[in-house]
Amino acid sequence: MSGYLKQVPDKDGYFGNYGGAFLPPQLEPHFKEIAQAYERISGDASYIAELRYIRKHYQGRPTPISHARNLSTKLGGANIYLKREDLNHSGAHKLNHCMAEALLAKHMGKKKLIAETGAGQHGVALATAAAYFGLDCEIHMGEVDIAKEHPNVKRMKLLGATVVPVSFGARTLKEAVDSAFESYLGQTEEAIYAIGSVVGPHPFPKMVRDFQQIIGVEAREQFIEMTGNLPDHVVACVGGGSNAMGLFSGFVDDDTVQLHGVEPMGKGPKEGDHAATITFGQPGQIHGFKCLVLTDANGEPAPVHSIASGLDYPGVGPEHSHLHEIGRAKYGSATDEETLQAFYALSRLEGIIPALESSHAVAYAMKMAATHAGETILVNLSGRGDKDLDYVTDNFGHGEDYPL
Ligand SMILES: *Cc1c(COP(=O)(O)O)cnc(C)c1O
Repeated sequence: MSGYLKQVPDKDGYFGNYGGAFLPPQLEPHFKEIAQAYERISGDASYIAELRYIRKHYQGRPTPISHARNLSTKLGGANIYLKREDLNHSGAHKLNHCMAEALLAKHMGKKKLIAETGAGQHGVALATAAAYFGLDCEIHMGEVDIAKEHPNVKRMKLLGATVVPVSFGARTLKEAVDSAFESYLGQTEEAIYAIGSVVGPHPFPKMVRDFQQIIGVEAREQFIEMTGNLPDHVVACVGGGSNAMGLFSGFVDDDTVQLHGVEPMGKGPKEGDHAATITFGQPGQIHGFKCLVLTDANGEPAPVHSIASGLDYPGVGPEHSHLHEIGRAKYGSATDEETLQAFYALSRLEGIIPALESSHAVAYAMKMAATHAGETILVNLSGRGDKDLDYVTDNFGHGEDYPL
């Protein structure tokens, strides 16, 4: 393939059959305003220069690539490498798009960022960006999630954000989205809505991909410098799909590089036990865009589960739906158990405690290693595991039950 990134999405935000923007009429002009502002600003030299400055002097980019030597030796097959997004300021890749969205807001003359958050990771990253730019930040979060993810609520408040508890319906992510949209409608002049992955109505899937592309651009250059070659495989976990699109963007035109997205198989393939949207989903619509969707018997978004709360979404980015359909990327999965095994293995063998989300990608690479002897696998380590420590050690111990 060549020039892939220039070909999709089209001007209406379609990646083949997926994407678009299906909005209540009151919101349509505001998403158009964001799309137009982004078109204008993304070519502006001062915007690009400011973003580069922030990435280097605030976020700590470029993040390195590490050769997971001990893990590779232990597995005795392929060589595994890690793109270290866990070393980004605030501990994950999410700051790549949050800083860029906040900078866009500033260039548009907005004073406030609004978003929903599930586990709180997007909320924390956005609150960090808001603090940096001196913008107000309003984060909507279900009461169930607030109780579960208390450290992230504290972080958001420390960073100066207002956390709005959402007390209707199931009081989790879906209601938080509804609540945030409602609030945004009342303040579209001064605020911008900041989506946390390559999902949502146009222009967000394209915009967030562009902001995350830095992962793939750096990784391609670093990998060639380190090994003399392109990797044979690149692997990333897929929730909405932003860290995966970031990595894939760097390699999508390289036909020899196989792209792998890893979905959460949770406790198994039964409805409600996983969030493997591409593996089991059907074309449909969710939160204002077309993609593959996990639905229940009534056609409503199905309940989902993953040990990694950043991956449990019944939809997926339109571009992943497209890359799957055209066969350019392969989508596999890792179960909760395989993920825990990878979490403990990387901690003990490499001295790197990975986020449970990222552990899915590591688990998949570990499964691939034996059957791909002599090949190279580059895994996107999307975040660090500090946020998951209490949950993992309280429930599963320190690895006694997961021998290497
Ligand atoms: C949020 C999160 C993810 C999932 O989001 P994507 O948009 O699929 O990348 C993955 N890893 C970490 C560490 C996260 O915080």
